[in-house]
Amino acid sequence: MRIVILGGGYAGVICALRLARRTRGQDSITLVSASPSLVDRIRLHQQAAGQDLGKHGLAELLAGSGVTLKIGRVTRIDPRGSLYLGDERLAFEQLVVAIGSRVDVDSVPGVREHAFTLDAASAGELAARLPSIAARGGRLLVIGGGLTGIEGATELAEAHPGLQVTLLSSGELGENLSEAGRTHLYEALRRLGVTVQKGQVRRIQAGSVELADRSLPFDACLWAGGFVVPELVRQSGLPVNSRGQLLVDPCLRVIGHENIHGIGDAAALVEPPSHMLMGCKTAIPMGVQVAENLARLSRGEDPLPFDYVDTAFCISLGRRDGLLQPYRLDGSPTPWLLRGRMGAWLKEQVCRFVVTSLRFERMGLNIVAWRKTGRKLSPVASQQGTLAA
Ligand SMILES: Cc1cc2nc3c(=O)[nH]c(=O)nc-3n(C[C@H](O)[C@H](O)[C@H](O)COP(=O)(O)OP(=O)(O)OC[C@H]3O[C@@H](n4cnc5c(N)ncnc54)[C@H](O)[C@@H]3O)c2cc1C
Repeated sequence: MRIVILGGGYAGVICALRLARRTRGQDSITLVSASPSLVDRIRLHQQAAGQDLGKHGLAELLAGSGVTLKIGRVTRIDPRGSLYLGDERLAFEQLVVAIGSRVDVDSVPGVREHAFTLDAASAGELAARLPSIAARGGRLLVIGGGLTGIEGATELAEAHPGLQVTLLSSGELGENLSEAGRTHLYEALRRLGVTVQKGQVRRIQAGSVELADRSLPFDACLWAGGFVVPELVRQSGLPVNSRGQLLVDPCLRVIGHENIHGIGDAAALVEPPSHMLMGCKTAIPMGVQVAENLARLSRGEDPLPFDYVDTAFCISLGRRDGLLQPYRLDGSPTPWLLRGRMGAWLKEQVCRFVVTSLRFERMGLNIVAWRKTGRKLSPVASQQGTLAA
């Protein structure tokens, strides 16, 4: 089979490596990535704080695996069997879309023009700007009370004690945490001098944010308002949801297209297992699952459904504090959690594990595992009977 994997993030790389191990050169596997390195996105708030994240070259991560690496930006997906990189055509029999996501900068006016984001290029620009703003006691406004907003605000406040940091959120912070988790989160924000405000942003202008009832001035604004999938996927005509994620069946095949598979941030299950968010903790298992299913297909077997249950949230609160909030099988947070220095240490181990799991996979060692429902699942022959898009 000619298999093309589109995207060299966590999901695409683990999928390519596992598939190469399983099929041992029988199939042609090509991984296409716009960037020659794996962007370690889960550490981009650290990059914004001026830390050196190092580089993980894709050529090195895939070396010796038998996967062909193609660096280039895909400009069109033709679901009938071709990808286009400008004028160049790349044919596939099986396609895995692992194109990931980016911060949504279009749903609120002014974000694109006046705010930084935790995308690789913008995080680098923010890192360059913040030291001078901090030196004169300037204001950083972080917008978004989700996990990236919280990690961003705490990391930047810790790295630049001179900065006046405000975290603006439309909802309650730490909604997915237990009461003890939320209490610890607010304590950490207080300790780091981060002011929390509530409000819905209408627009961002140069130097200020307009809310329904007031405006807030800033010297730098970090927008952490959620992720969307690149437009390329929607433009392909494949079925997508409002965030541009491909709609996939329980075996992660795109609805109505059995030879196209969606993994990572770029895909959303039509029948979701409990509590599944965009995250590397789901992207990597999805990559493994599709690789195993494609290997089954090579052997003439039917694919297996993706069985995943979230285990925990792990949040950094700067380099010296963190939170590990475990979840029950039903998706509710447990009252007990790990916090403080132990939480920070665990979060660091999780971040290291993510890249290490890719390196181990290349060496033939499988260290990726995830919690499952425990239900007995049978192979699924075709999409007949699954929900329509
Ligand atoms: C600051 C921050 C902290 C985070 N913390 C956590 C966390 O603690 N836990 C967690 O689970 N998740 C976390 N996430 C989310 C996590 O980073 C993403 O869910 C994860 O990166 C998704 O992996 P992916 O492989 O699907 O996509 P990505 O990592 O986005 O990779 C997509 C790949 O597709 C390539 N690509 C895109 N467009 C094209 C194109 N047109 N042509 C060719 N290639 C293309 C890109 O170059 C890239 O290689 C965090 C994210 C951020 C920003």
